[in-house]
Amino acid sequence: MEECSALGTVTARSPIVETSPMGAAQRRFANAACVLDSEYDPLALLSGLKRMEREMGRRPGQRWGDRVIDLDIILWSGGRLDARDLTIPHREFRTRDFVLSPAVAIAPNWRDPVTGHTIRQLAVRL
Ligand code: AMP
Repeated sequence: MEECSALGTVTARSPIVETSPMGAAQRRFANAACVLDSEYDPLALLSGLKRMEREMGRRPGQRWGDRVIDLDIILWSGGRLDARDLTIPHREFRTRDFVLSPAVAIAPNWRDPVTGHTIRQLAVRL
């Protein structure tokens, strides 16, 4: 599968997984993951994702329940990255079923460089 976005080529896309409200949120959430082949470095990619969030109607400072969209970088081919505004792997992804469930559908053998576990192993442990 090859789909082009402004930020690169989507080479794999998970099914959409619906999850229950978290915390005070009333709404259900739709979650998905994709593999993006991109020329951008991670910080430029994050800027592009934030721009897409704004274009889709997200406003700064919105609480979880109010968000129309949340685009995160979970892993990348370069291993670990610790910048002021960006941490890869994403800090919370190992404990979030709504991240691991879609991710395991498209990249089960991708390895977390921090724990050494694959996405499949992280999903099973959760
Ligand atoms: P969020 O509330 O999920 O949109 O993220 C808030 C902030 O987390 C963003 O503005 C980023 O600067 C920062 N951040 C740190 N690591 C990541 C990551 N892996 N993916 C996306 N945002 C990140």
